[in-house]
Amino acid sequence: MKPVSNTPDWVLAALETRRQQNLMREAVTLQSPQVPHTHINNQPFTAFCSNDYLGLANHPQLIKAMQDAALQYGVGGGSSHLVCGHLAPHQALEDALADWLGYERVLLFSTGYMANLGVISALAGKQRPVLQDKLNHASLIDGAMLAQAPLRRYLHADVTSAEKRLSKSNQAGLLVTDGVFSMDGDIAPLTSLSGLASQHDWVFMVDDAHGVGCLGESGRGAMALAGLTSAHVPLLVGTFGKAFGTAGAFVATSHDFADYLTQFARPYVYTTSMSPAMTGATLASLQLIQGEEGQVRRAKLAEHIVYFRQRMQVLPVELMPSNTAIQPIVLGDSQRALRVSEQLRSLGIWCTAIRPPTVPVGGARLRITLSAAHSHADLVLLCDALERVLAVDLCC
Ligand SMILES: *Cc1c(COP(=O)(O)O)cnc(C)c1O
Repeated sequence: MKPVSNTPDWVLAALETRRQQNLMREAVTLQSPQVPHTHINNQPFTAFCSNDYLGLANHPQLIKAMQDAALQYGVGGGSSHLVCGHLAPHQALEDALADWLGYERVLLFSTGYMANLGVISALAGKQRPVLQDKLNHASLIDGAMLAQAPLRRYLHADVTSAEKRLSKSNQAGLLVTDGVFSMDGDIAPLTSLSGLASQHDWVFMVDDAHGVGCLGESGRGAMALAGLTSAHVPLLVGTFGKAFGTAGAFVATSHDFADYLTQFARPYVYTTSMSPAMTGATLASLQLIQGEEGQVRRAKLAEHIVYFRQRMQVLPVELMPSNTAIQPIVLGDSQRALRVSEQLRSLGIWCTAIRPPTVPVGGARLRITLSAAHSHADLVLLCDALERVLAVDLCC
């Protein structure tokens, strides 16, 4: 193939730097649906790094619901929600989510990344700062940049640090946190943060991408686990690409905020609506999550988490204070993380090493994720492999 053009030197230099720092990233191709027992490069692996926590991404009922919705409503949204891309299944999904989570309104977004850009860019600005946890997801940080809003960070999950920064600001703004932290698996101190926000008249926003579906009563997420409602969290973002096993995202909020976002959230206004077929699959997913099947899957996931932590406790590794499906093992430098990930691969385990800038420098890790789709035998395989690999890695 002929090159499109000569690659500028600065592009090649940036790539070379990434390679030298062991930070080069490349996608691998799975030759299967998103399931634990997959094939990569024609070799079988058991994967432990997907966010399909409940094992719904390849669920027959979701596939059927997607086919049915496609037959009835087609595959393309055709335009943005506000022109003529808001179809009956979109409205049905919004209503079902609002009802489930106890909010007046829900707006759908194409991805969680866009939901966060949309909400923050609409609600923050030069006169309305954003205060965020140091470990918040990249999309929340990027939302503040799109808003051109002053961005301040507080120490991870540290309410005192948040309060200090909040009291220093002479303008009220937006306080934003992940519900479950995506690279660490721990849960934000939501009750204290919501109290802090209301005390200072700041708007409180929670991105519970990893909590919704998995945590709390009937899977309502980290807020429900903490006993909080829409009265404490006026803006809740959730995504469908994780526990729901589909794609897309939502913000649950009040009538007024929903009307406001509909006017001013550019990543809502200027983009095509979610595929109606995907919306149908997501609605089916919500029904599973709310029902007995969701309960059974959450219980199975909880069993895996307990077993994994019991096995890891006795190993000389740093376990995170996480009771969620995200169970990282911090290894420090990127080279070590890559080496351990590769050794696991030789034992049939797939777990991608997570390196800076996704995590802080010196915090490279295996971000092990557990799923209800794993069997107990899968967990045994993983823990045995980790035991072997980490013992060898420490001694040399
Ligand atoms: C994955 C994730 C997102 C982005 O969601 P997508 O739908 O994948 O774009 C946003 N916030 C958090 C905390 C996430 O983990």
